[in-house]
Formats: sequence, structure tokens, C-alpha cells
Amino acid sequence: MKHVIIDQQGKAQLYFLLIVFINLTIFSLIVTGVVIGIKGYISDTRSVYTSITCCESICSTCFFTLHTIATILPWVCIVILFVGICAAIYKALYIPYRNNSLIHSLPSLSIECYPKLKNIAHRMHFHNQLVLLDNSELRYAFTSGLWKPKVYISLGLCFYLTRKELQAVLLHEAQHKKNKDPLKLFIIQILYALNFFLPINHYLLDQFSSASEKAADDSAVNVSREPIELASALVKICKSNQTAALYPFVSYFKGQNVTEDRVRRLLEPQMPPPDLFKVYLYSSSFLSLFIATILFLSLFYKFLLPAYAPDCAAKTCHIVRCGQS
Ligand SMILES: [Zn+2]
Repeated sequence: MKHVIIDQQGKAQLYFLLIVFINLTIFSLIVTGVVIGIKGYISDTRSVYTSITCCESICSTCFFTLHTIATILPWVCIVILFVGICAAIYKALYIPYRNNSLIHSLPSLSIECYPKLKNIAHRMHFHNQLVLLDNSELRYAFTSGLWKPKVYISLGLCFYLTRKELQAVLLHEAQHKKNKDPLKLFIIQILYALNFFLPINHYLLDQFSSASEKAADDSAVNVSREPIELASALVKICKSNQTAALYPFVSYFKGQNVTEDRVRRLLEPQMPPPDLFKVYLYSSSFLSLFIATILFLSLFYKFLLPAYAPDCAAKTCHIVRCGQS
């Protein structure tokens, strides 16, 4: 089982590094392009304005030249960059605020009040990092916290699960805590907001989430040797289906398909995983590459297009004639 854990953890780590590398590279290239080109964009925009208006009346054909369009595109890139930076700052401030206010709004109990949980936590040497939430109606367990994550479990879930299922859930969450998965997810969400125009991010986030969940499952089974108990707990929690709706930012990724896949591999580990994502991977990669190419061409167009000075005497604008001579 050990190589399986390394395999899923390795995959999660690879997807995380890929997201960071792709997004930081694209962001750096866009910022570099804007910083290098901003003076040129301003002077070109002035020049295009002069060309459009230099024939004493507005030269409408000048609007539709390649040069005019190429002058507008960098400004579109700057707006996209600005929107991305604002969205990333908003996420960076809002997610911790939302998590903190949610957690502080939930009353907690000492785990001493619930002997079943206390015994499991003590055996796992986990009692200092576990918070029992005083809510017997809702059933949820999650890991939250960026620097020192803690595992939160509701009283309702403790009542709902058997002892072995509860242990399996705690072992699963302990792995998220050990891997600092909430911090990684936070970084990914900021990068996702920063480069919101890249469809590949959605694919990579799905794959990272799925691999992290499977790595946590494998770690739990490696300790407990009880895959059926974890599968049973997963099905019960999925049927309750409360965590994701109530706590979208503290809860971890919980798609129905991913849960089905996790239960399947817990019950039938020898079965090969379904190969559902190839079309998704190819289409999102192609679209992201296309968008990135358009953005870079827009920012570095000056190196590709010849410069034309407006010629009012000849009534030409970027080699097209304006009106009647
Ligand atoms: Zn999980």
C-alpha cells in the first residue's frame, strides 16, 4: 500500500507544482510585457488617434486596420491583468476571513465530553489538533487552517458513524493536515483567480483535489487496514451532503463523481481507474495555449508589425486611404 500512497501524494504534489509553475510563468510574462511595452502602447495609441483624426474628419477605414486593432489589444490585456490581480487580492483576503468567521461562529466542546472520540484521538496522539463542534444536527468533518491546520468534526457526525468509521474519517483528515492541503488549496485558488482566463487551471484543480483525497484515503487505510469502513463513512457523509453546501471554503473538494471513484477504489483496488478526463485535458490545454498565445502576441505586437507614421498630406492611415482624395 505504501507505494500507492506515494503515487497519489506524488500526483497531488505534481499537480500543485504544475499549477504554481504555469500560473507564475504566465503572470510574469504578462507583467514583463506590460512593463516593457507600456510607453510604446501610449505613443502608439496617440499615433493611431492622430491617424484617425488627421484628415480633418474621422477616418472610419482607419478603425479597421490591423495596426489599430493591434494597438487596442494590449489595453485589453492590461484590463485582464488588472481584473485578475483584483480577484486574487479579494480571494487572498476573503477566504481566510470567511473561514475564521465560520469557525468562530461554531461553538465547540471538549473532546472529553465524548469518550468514543476521546479514545480514538488519544490513540492517534491527535487530541491537541482535534476540535469537536457542538452541533448534533449536522454531520461534517473537515480540516481548516493555513499555517497550523486543525481537524474539525461535528457531534452529529460522531453520533452518525460507527467507531471504526469515525477512526477512518479522522485518519483521512489527519493526512490532509499533515500535507498542509488547506494551504495548498488556498494558493491554488489565488492563482486560479489571478489567471481566471486559463481553462487548464480548472482541470488541474480537479486533478489536484482528486489525488489529495485519494492520498488521504490511502493513508487512512494504510493505518487502519479497514477500507470498507472508510468507504462506508464516505457513502454516509455523501448521502448527508451537508458539508459542501454549508462550508464551501473550509470543506475540501467533494464532487459526486470523485466520491464514487474513491469508494470504488477502496472496495476494488485492483480495478483500473476510469479514463474520463482525456478530452477535458486536451480541450482545456489547447484553449489555454490559444488564449496565452493571443495575449503574448497582443503585448509584443510591436516586434511583428511595421510602424507607419500618419501621413495627412497623402490622406493615408496605416497604408489605407482615408476618404476621397
Ligand atoms: Zn478529504
